[in-house]
Amino acid sequence: MAASEGTQKVATSSQLGFATRAIHHGYDPADHHGAVSPPVYFTSTYAFSNVADNDVAAALGGKLYAREHNPTTELLEARLANLEGAEAGLVLASGMAAVGALMLSLLSQGDELIVHRTLYSNTTAMTEQGLPRFGINVVPVDLNDPTNLDAVVTPRSRAVYFETPVNPTGDVLDIAAIAARAHAAGLLVLVDGTFASPALQHPLLHGADIVLHSLTKYINGHGDLLGGALLGNVELIAKIHSQGLRFITGAALSPMASSLVLRGIKTLPLRMERHGSNALAIARMLDTHPAVAWVNYPFLPSHPRHAIARRQMSNGSGMMSFGLRGGFEAARRMLDNLKIITLAVSLGDVETLIMHPASIIRARKTVRPETHLQSGVGDDLIRLSVGLEDEADLLHDLKQSLDRL
Ligand code: PLP
Repeated sequence: MAASEGTQKVATSSQLGFATRAIHHGYDPADHHGAVSPPVYFTSTYAFSNVADNDVAAALGGKLYAREHNPTTELLEARLANLEGAEAGLVLASGMAAVGALMLSLLSQGDELIVHRTLYSNTTAMTEQGLPRFGINVVPVDLNDPTNLDAVVTPRSRAVYFETPVNPTGDVLDIAAIAARAHAAGLLVLVDGTFASPALQHPLLHGADIVLHSLTKYINGHGDLLGGALLGNVELIAKIHSQGLRFITGAALSPMASSLVLRGIKTLPLRMERHGSNALAIARMLDTHPAVAWVNYPFLPSHPRHAIARRQMSNGSGMMSFGLRGGFEAARRMLDNLKIITLAVSLGDVETLIMHPASIIRARKTVRPETHLQSGVGDDLIRLSVGLEDEADLLHDLKQSLDRL
């Protein structure tokens, strides 16, 4: 865990813009032999020249062992916390490791967790198959209407957890409205902001207590590693660090992965601009194509939740969903006709990625019969993660595929 304030000259200036902080926050080459790129500390443990120093480190939570402390990882944590506007940050081996550490550090047997009805498929699996095994009751609710929260709160409710934008729909939930109701009931507000990244949205400013990111997606941005992050106040992050990371999951991020994420973050604001402009052009085209039945991209001005999106995000990301008039079968044909766009399940990469959740679920049911489509996700839904290729090439690829249906 690292607090967001560093001692370096660049780190202390709160007037610096997001892009400058994404490149410099928390790091001064003068402290590292002038190395402009931060060094990667490959070590599993730390040496002490005498027992007294060893005692001090043990007593004060200093650097003893790399599961809990690594200088490269701590720089990443400080930078992410700064970019998210958080006091502190913690990174873990994947987004799911972050979800697991969060839940198992903050919830206990007998507690209740309220969740939005539509979540990333493996977060849904955790809420349906994981947490109940530990005596944690999960209550799904439609948070598109924040007043629905009031009806399910009980004296055992501890927290509300949701994504915005939501996976896989790309729709937005009103963070401030949900947080106000949750806080009135004494609940923690836990927000997965993976679909937006800190370049577009700061859930803490709207009332969230903790923000979760899968670093695997936009923040690293290059599709070559897994990682997760939790950002929030010092007390909550310290609790997750000293429990969830230290002895519940042990899911530390490797220093090499931390270094790669630090490299990816440097271009995050630039990349998000291009993801957003490409996505808006594609959403506009899909909206008028005769084969397309519906498009869900909240930064289309006609979107019913456009006002909420504009209030809590500076721009749209590359994430959207759409459905075809020909439904399930047309979706499969459309995916097969694509030439540039890649059929793959991740998101937030430089490559444009497309997936059809209903096809995945149908195939997976043969090995995992309990698998089902998330609530609020239809058989026709296609999820598109718009990448950084030329807008004209992406439009052409989608059009030629849709025109052949
Ligand atoms: N949260 C969201 C919104 C996601 O889309 C994902 C993965 O797709 C995760 C969390 C889990 O992240 P990871 O794949 O890094 O474990």
